[in-house]
Amino acid sequence: MQDKAFNKLQNKLKHLTGKAIADFNMIEEGDKIMVCLSGGKDSFAMLDMLLFLQKKAPIEFELLAVNLDQKQPGFPEYILPEYLTKLGVDFHIIEQDTYSIVKNIIPEGKTTCGLCSRLRRGILYSFAEEHNCSKIALGHHRDDRVETLFLNMFFGSKLKSMPPKLFSDDRKHTVIRPLSYCAEKDILAYANIANYPIIPCNLCGSQDNMQRQAIKMMLQDWEKINPGRIENISRSLKNVVPSHLADTTIYKFN
Ligand code: SF4
Repeated sequence: MQDKAFNKLQNKLKHLTGKAIADFNMIEEGDKIMVCLSGGKDSFAMLDMLLFLQKKAPIEFELLAVNLDQKQPGFPEYILPEYLTKLGVDFHIIEQDTYSIVKNIIPEGKTTCGLCSRLRRGILYSFAEEHNCSKIALGHHRDDRVETLFLNMFFGSKLKSMPPKLFSDDRKHTVIRPLSYCAEKDILAYANIANYPIIPCNLCGSQDNMQRQAIKMMLQDWEKINPGRIENISRSLKNVVPSHLADTTIYKFN
């Protein structure tokens, strides 16, 4: 029974990952893809999906799994090397103590995630450049993209989300999000059966982003009352009608 459920979920995730990759031309012949692994369920699932697709794709591309060990106290540094060695995947662990930098700069009690994320992004972008990685793959999924849409609306007065593919401002880096169409609940169910060696994400002692948590709960409440609502919102990001919005820079109303 478990095998059947696992295969069904695996096929669904493979299909949605393949579709997102094709829709946004995420992977091209000869790409070297840096697969960012945090040790969370999403990044483990992303690596699995990319490995499956690599086997059956009509094009050749390389995968390099990369983890940034930020030196949080208690980080179990042996887990990813052991897992990736068993899997037979090329990998690299970058060691940089961003934990101390963040703790020294941000006053006690304030959230550290903003600075921590900026430092992490800089380190990963530099690594990609030094190792000639043409793409940087991140494990964000459908629900992350919908939550980001509401965060930007509620707190930034902007209608923008987290795109499946993004070029950095200087066009040196291309970020791809192969799980863009995959629902978090499916990834979670899959990760539970796959029994990934998940590394907890609260080692730094920082609070989860409270605003994102509130939006996640709002969306989950909506979903309970109207199943399918998160999927509809996600699809609406692919069906934009500028003439029925109010941005004069993208639609000329005269
Ligand atoms: S939870 Fe901790 S490790 Fe994660 S982004 Fe925030 S500060 Fe960084």
